[in-house]
Amino acid sequence: MINRHTLLPLALLLGATTLLQAQKTPIQITADLSDAPRKLYHADVDIPVKPGPVSLTTPKWIPGNHRPTGPVDQITGVVFTANGKVLPWRRDDEDLYQFHVTVPDGVTTLHAHLDCIVTARLSQKLAVLEWEKLLLYPANTPVKEIPIQPSVKVPEGWGIGTALTPTDGYDAQHPKGGTTHYATTNVEQLEDSPVITGEYFHEFALAPEVTPKHYIDVVADSPEDSQLRPVLLSELNNLVRETGAAYNARHYNVYHFLLTLSDVAGGEGLEHGQSSDNGVGEKGFSDAAHQLAESDLLSHEFTHSWNGKYRRPFNLYQDDFTKMQEGSLLWVYEGMTQYLGNVLAARSGLKSQEQYRDMLAASAANLDYKPGREWRSTEDTAIAASILRGGNPAWSNWKRGQDYYQEGELFWLDTDTTIRKLTDNKKSLTDFLHIFLGKGGNTGVPGQPAGWGGNTGPLIVTYNRDELIADLNQVAKYDWATFMHDHIDAINPHADLAGIEQGGYKLVYTDKPTKSARTIASTGGRRGGGIDAWYSIGIRVMADGDISDVRWNGPADKAKLFPGQKIIAVNGNIFSGDALKSAIKEAHSNAKTEPIHLILQGDTFVTTADLDYHDGERFPSLVRVDGTPDYLDDITKPLTTPEKAPAEKNDRDATE
Ligand SMILES: [Zn+2]
Repeated sequence: MINRHTLLPLALLLGATTLLQAQKTPIQITADLSDAPRKLYHADVDIPVKPGPVSLTTPKWIPGNHRPTGPVDQITGVVFTANGKVLPWRRDDEDLYQFHVTVPDGVTTLHAHLDCIVTARLSQKLAVLEWEKLLLYPANTPVKEIPIQPSVKVPEGWGIGTALTPTDGYDAQHPKGGTTHYATTNVEQLEDSPVITGEYFHEFALAPEVTPKHYIDVVADSPEDSQLRPVLLSELNNLVRETGAAYNARHYNVYHFLLTLSDVAGGEGLEHGQSSDNGVGEKGFSDAAHQLAESDLLSHEFTHSWNGKYRRPFNLYQDDFTKMQEGSLLWVYEGMTQYLGNVLAARSGLKSQEQYRDMLAASAANLDYKPGREWRSTEDTAIAASILRGGNPAWSNWKRGQDYYQEGELFWLDTDTTIRKLTDNKKSLTDFLHIFLGKGGNTGVPGQPAGWGGNTGPLIVTYNRDELIADLNQVAKYDWATFMHDHIDAINPHADLAGIEQGGYKLVYTDKPTKSARTIASTGGRRGGGIDAWYSIGIRVMADGDISDVRWNGPADKAKLFPGQKIIAVNGNIFSGDALKSAIKEAHSNAKTEPIHLILQGDTFVTTADLDYHDGERFPSLVRVDGTPDYLDDITKPLTTPEKAPAEKNDRDATE
């Protein structure tokens, strides 16, 4: 049964947008990124108005950020003019994102100029525009009902990547820079259509036989990095085809992966309906070893076009960016995307099946050793999403973070393997995805599941938990409501490892990290450096001895260590990673009575501590349980025929 929540908003959306856009004069906005190297973006905005008081706003709750991250604090140089005269304005006393202006008689267009100070996601050679930095539009109006025609100005010779439709013959293979005009859209869609631009720019077409068309646009800080490796392009071709098999209907008119490669522009992964804003280090995709840490980035953000952008939790969707986006279903929005992003990365060859298992082991172990789960449910990490992102790592294992990503991954793996178990591997989560991700559009396509609507353009079709349960029951009858309640709403002192076990594997701890863990460590990983002592003595410690977190109730906690301390010496030796590892090994091989002796600095005080720990180094991995169905490797096998990838020498991979 389909819940009313899903069908009503869609009908409203389809009717309202086309009608109102036809009637209204669009806002015109020109985003000027030509000063990007100096960390300034400018905009000129012409807003159709009537005389009298007008309230304009900039976005506050940014879809995909799950937080009120609109950069109103960085928006500066705001000047309103009409017929060449400057008009006074006043900020709203309660809603600091709103500007009030009184429009004089006879004026039909209000001009606004604004600047935004931008210190992230740009460098001397490239820039990313997420439109909340420059948007200004009538307040208290559904954003999909406000038509807007964008133009983008970039430095001479810089290329532009975006899913917006150019109207003046922009040529991605021979970019000239300057101003490019785009077709009229609405404020909701413009906010969902970022722009990347750069001096070293390349656009590559992917899986050219697939409709709608797919591209990857790359900007980099050095010319050689913007030329992606043939192997990577081949894996991305596979990814486009794999999404067709896994998700069936597509919900965009065109799709652009936007990728920045820069050590200064910062990391990013932000989903959009027709594109994704991806940022990695300069060498993030330069070889297979560096690629491993980023292997699910593009598949994760791409999956969001279906799960998150098209299908959206009813309480996460708001028709206006001033309203709070509620996170209680983020274990579906992000959690299922986390699962599918990793599975599709393996199916596409962006990582191997072994690498998939190694990284799943790391994620599952991290959750199983997260004491905060003793007081806080997975659902609470989702509800509290907007107050859990970032922050100091101190005691974060007791607090918990945005665990709905990885908890959701284990939940949907459990769901997938449960469906396989119930149906003797004849059905899987793919059957559910074909139903759930295909609804909306022109409902009732003959020969397709109930409510299936085929390919659509970018729409938002909302859902609730009842619909998930009904769709799962269409695939395999089970008490899915209780299953969800037990895993998501209830307190669970241990992680849900049932999916791994039903998949034919077991999470174990050995004295050696997996090959993938060593490969990631050899490239500096996503976060760089550090010694892995979490599952042994229970600390996260940087290469210089700084302790960033102490595992609640672990050996180090019992010895009263605390985050922010620095280890100065281990067993009489000055601290080094090797000295700490040797001490852990020694305490294991000796008579197991001698503790590990530490000298620590905390604030300006020096103390000593003895760690009574004798179990040696411990690192998580998955081992195959013989004689059980191997669903985990069935899940990560490609559904389509992979391309024969060009040969590539892989000299950065970790060796035994
Ligand atoms: Zn995500």
